[in-house]
Amino acid sequence: MDTTQRLNATMTMATNKKKKTNKTPEIKFQFELNSCSKSKDFRGAISLYDDAVSNNIRLNQHHLNTLLYLCSNAVTNPSLKQLALDYGFRIFNHMSSLNVIPNEATVATVARLAAANGDGDRAFELVKNIGNYNVAPRLRTYDPALFCFCEFLDSDKAYEVEEHMNSVGVSLEEAEIAALLKVSAKKGRADRVYRYLHKLRSDVRCVGELTATVIEEWFQSDEAREAGEEDLDVRRVREGVLRNGGGWHGLGWVGKGDWVVSRMSVDGDGICCGCGEQLVCVDIDDVEMEKFALSIAALAVEREVKTHFSEFQGWLEKHDDYEAIVDGANVGLYQQNFADGGFSIYQLDDVVKELYDQRGKKWPLVILHNKRVRGLMENPSSRKLVEEWIKNGVLYTTPNGSNDDWYWLYAAVKLRGLLVTNDEMRDHIFELIGSNFFNQWKERHQVHYTFVKGNLKLQMPPLYSLVIQESEKGSWHVPLALDTSNESSRPWLCITRASADDAVTASNDVNTSGNSHLDQPLKLVDDVRSLDSQVIEKNSSSLTGKRKERSDSS
Ligand SMILES: [Zn+2]
Repeated sequence: MDTTQRLNATMTMATNKKKKTNKTPEIKFQFELNSCSKSKDFRGAISLYDDAVSNNIRLNQHHLNTLLYLCSNAVTNPSLKQLALDYGFRIFNHMSSLNVIPNEATVATVARLAAANGDGDRAFELVKNIGNYNVAPRLRTYDPALFCFCEFLDSDKAYEVEEHMNSVGVSLEEAEIAALLKVSAKKGRADRVYRYLHKLRSDVRCVGELTATVIEEWFQSDEAREAGEEDLDVRRVREGVLRNGGGWHGLGWVGKGDWVVSRMSVDGDGICCGCGEQLVCVDIDDVEMEKFALSIAALAVEREVKTHFSEFQGWLEKHDDYEAIVDGANVGLYQQNFADGGFSIYQLDDVVKELYDQRGKKWPLVILHNKRVRGLMENPSSRKLVEEWIKNGVLYTTPNGSNDDWYWLYAAVKLRGLLVTNDEMRDHIFELIGSNFFNQWKERHQVHYTFVKGNLKLQMPPLYSLVIQESEKGSWHVPLALDTSNESSRPWLCITRASADDAVTASNDVNTSGNSHLDQPLKLVDDVRSLDSQVIEKNSSSLTGKRKERSDSS
């Protein structure tokens, strides 16, 4: 059959799909390839490919990508590896001889094959040349080259891949940063390890088990023992901490000698149970928080009736002293999915009164939908509670047709308050907000709750930030990523150095005694202290209420 005949045959099939008995070779090939793809049948797929080549079946980009994908899967099986590589590269060459343009998936798959063959250079060349096909690379397109260089301890080339990713705006995630950290550690590149630890701190915050092991191995190495300055200027360290808003100074390893690495827990007040260090709370600063509130408002007015949301913004400006916001529907509907379940106004009232008691007799703000409030007013006993809330200024009713999510979220961010909800805020509306920043905000402001046998328990945010922390003394605390309702069970890497304490103190003595402007370093120390006290004050009052009650309830 020539091309025209094949085309005609395909078109006839397309216009007359019911004639299944009369399959063209192309349709039969497509069908069988799909079933190989589903069952990851590599051998079946390559025999189909051989048949297709000898029968001159027209292969398109989708067919070839499917075949390449099956090859790249099969390379992980040692008994199939060589065959998969041979076929993979043959199919890729075939693709270019057919003038079929590769897409991003093609490049990612062939790069995987090259990397499996130990050829990081080829994997990197493929992604560097992806622009020739007018497609943009993604993280997965770079991964084969990056991981291949890291595995072969070719650190300089791995850094080159990282630079290339940065230049095209592809962001690294935890696995990539951990691989770079590991190769840097193995090559004794202490400066690079330091940089990647900070990259994990800013981009990842809590690390997975594999990354934690990489970090532990670094600190136990000879190179780590040698890395660091014995007389780091305490003034510079403290300036660094102030400038960065707490939790890190970024000036390099402090001290010399052995590191002590252990896995520890952190108590409810943020004290490391290993070394006794106070972990700090790194909140979002005011400017960022205001920007955040504005971006939520901008999204809300696009989606809500504009006048309704603006009215709420105006109302909130006049009533801006709430410290806690309650997602009324979330609390009222908690555990109500049983036969007679509905909306439990008593649960909501418990939360309102508990917040009032815990927070120095200040009422929270409950956001509840109009429709819900109307329903509650029909029942005399719930009507009484609603009237009481209205009297105490607790309730804001959102109008018909509104999505109350925008209202409680905006109020909590705008007023820098706590937000009581078990909603993990992963819905599409929250996706609009962007994850990294939003996660930080949730960690500092979201209050979860439970009702165990009808007894309410509020779970306040931790008093310290769940983020890698570098202290003034040069010690490190690294939280492990773990879904836990009980923060005290979260493991942290506690990494300290006996000499670090002396290193900073000794340098302080030298600087103050040898410095005619004695007041300058002292003033900075005062600034740091006042920052500490602000943090502590904020922790104990505005964020968590009376600490004593909290420990009683937990
Ligand atoms: Zn510690």
